[in-house]
Amino acid sequence: MNHAGRQRIFTLIYLLAVILIFIILSRGFSTPGPKSVSYSDLLAAIRAGEVVEAELDETELHAKLTDAAAKSHGNQRLVATRLPGIDDATLLRDLDAAHVRYSGRIATRAWWKDALLLWLLPLLLIFLFYGVGLWRLSQGGGGAGSLTFGRNRAKIYDRSTGERVTFADVAGADEAEDELIEVVDFLKNPGKYRALGGHIPRGVLLVGAPGTGKTLLAKAVAGEAGVPFFSISGSEFVEMFVGVGAARVRDLFEQGKQRAPCIIFIDELDAVGKSRAAGRGMLMTNDEREQTLNQLLTEMDGFDTSKGIIIMAATNTPEVLDPALLRAGRFDRQVVIDRPDLRGREEILKVHARQVKLAPDVDLHTIAARTPGMVGADLANIVNEGALLAARRGAGLVEMGHLEEAIDRIMLGLEKKSRVMSPAEKERVACHETGHALVALTVENADPVHRVSIIPRTIGALGHTLQLPTQEKFLMTRPELLDQIAVMLGGRAAEELVYRDAISTGAANDLERASELARQMVTRFGMSDRLGQLTYGHPLAARFLDAPFAAEERNYSEQTAEIIDAEVRRIIDENYQRVCDILANRRPALDRISSELIRHETLDRTEIEKLV
Ligand code: ADP
Ligand code: ZN
Repeated sequence: MNHAGRQRIFTLIYLLAVILIFIILSRGFSTPGPKSVSYSDLLAAIRAGEVVEAELDETELHAKLTDAAAKSHGNQRLVATRLPGIDDATLLRDLDAAHVRYSGRIATRAWWKDALLLWLLPLLLIFLFYGVGLWRLSQGGGGAGSLTFGRNRAKIYDRSTGERVTFADVAGADEAEDELIEVVDFLKNPGKYRALGGHIPRGVLLVGAPGTGKTLLAKAVAGEAGVPFFSISGSEFVEMFVGVGAARVRDLFEQGKQRAPCIIFIDELDAVGKSRAAGRGMLMTNDEREQTLNQLLTEMDGFDTSKGIIIMAATNTPEVLDPALLRAGRFDRQVVIDRPDLRGREEILKVHARQVKLAPDVDLHTIAARTPGMVGADLANIVNEGALLAARRGAGLVEMGHLEEAIDRIMLGLEKKSRVMSPAEKERVACHETGHALVALTVENADPVHRVSIIPRTIGALGHTLQLPTQEKFLMTRPELLDQIAVMLGGRAAEELVYRDAISTGAANDLERASELARQMVTRFGMSDRLGQLTYGHPLAARFLDAPFAAEERNYSEQTAEIIDAEVRRIIDENYQRVCDILANRRPALDRISSELIRHETLDRTEIEKLV
């Protein structure tokens, strides 16, 4: 019999025992209440021969009446309060004279009955409630309130219930899949591994940014192996009450053992598994988390891997985890899930596009190219949003335009169509954005322009120029960086060319990004001839300081600081000059594109190329 079954039976016996004791003890009080009369009335009844039986104790006299007398008194029994010791002698004489059988003497009332009433009974009641609580827990029922604290909320995804997820549902994570195939194999035939005495994984830690598909992968492992999937989030372990988290961990593993082979998945492991050292010295010492973590470690050490239980956990900050969690025999295997690259994104889009009806004009490759940095969850969102848009507009199929709009919504926030721009402002924004676009079209190493628009989308921005990388880049060369700076400066340069001195604030963000990039070229990438192949400054990772900004430790002299500033300035100035020359040479194209832009608000790549 399994553990829960035994526990249920034990609880049942416990409850029965308590109830039995309760009944035995209360028998002495269970007779129906006698009628209260005065002592002298009761004495009179005795003398009249109406009493057949009497019982007396220190303070009371109980009398059982003959049937005839009972009718006239309206009760079978009478009780009277008497003053102990005062007239015992007369009472006994009267009783004898009336031939009444009597029991009890002056102190018949047992001391334990009082004790029982005063404290044993309440105590029993407490035990009774406790027993009821235990019973409900062992039943596994929901039930309200405090009695269900310790129960964990692990959700069970059985292979028989709900949709089964397989590796086919996960795209763009091939490396992670390859690593997990072994786990699937182990779950399918643990015997094979046991026979060979091979190393059996106990815990697998999935590391990746939110939305990269960690949960999905864990489910897919369970689905491929055809085993149940238990999942709980680390944050659910950590409750207000100390001890609850630990109880949940125990319960989760208990459930897992009963259903082995299976997968136990702990999402947000960092919520429980934060390094114990890290918490110290802060305002909040988290006893609860520590207890929960200890329980988790104990359980992971305690269970028998040959049964086929595998713990999978997910986190996006593996570096904060307690080292004890990562030791051999615990989460000693780490699988990193990267943000998907261009090809990966296209694959993920394909997976999700299976569920919607796409128009033939939809090119998922272009969508993938437009969404660098997005994770699986974002891409799923785009397809879904696109389908919703298509439905709202009454289109039969999801068209490219719907998906493009979905991207814009998700990436840049909702279009602010209600915002009114004056014609003069519109003109200026068109000029600015055309500046960016023209420079991007002219310089050698810039990503091709996909779209130029003067529709404001994000707060603060007035328009946008969208460039699409032709392929994913992992390295940038100096000419590429310089051209990137040039494109950023293109907006301001166009304004200056057209409006002379009346330049605007619209370029603030461009200038900031350009300056930052130039500074990095000088201090981080060793791309300044004057400063050489050195790095300057020592970036302190923000997470150590718990600060929202990155701080820098200065490790160079005042003199060097001046040279750095001068070099940054030189890079910006040189490129600005270059951009001004480019735009001055293409002034007719600049004017043409801006006036078209004012008319259409948005121009795409082919339209721009036609105008150039
Ligand atoms: P995480 O656990 O890493 O935060 P999830 O697994 O919860 O991310 O992903 C959320 C959703 O995003 C999934 O249900 C799925 O629809 C989608 N998704 C994420 N990654 C992928 C992927 N690699 N392939 C297909 N869909 C994905
Ligand atoms: Zn700009």
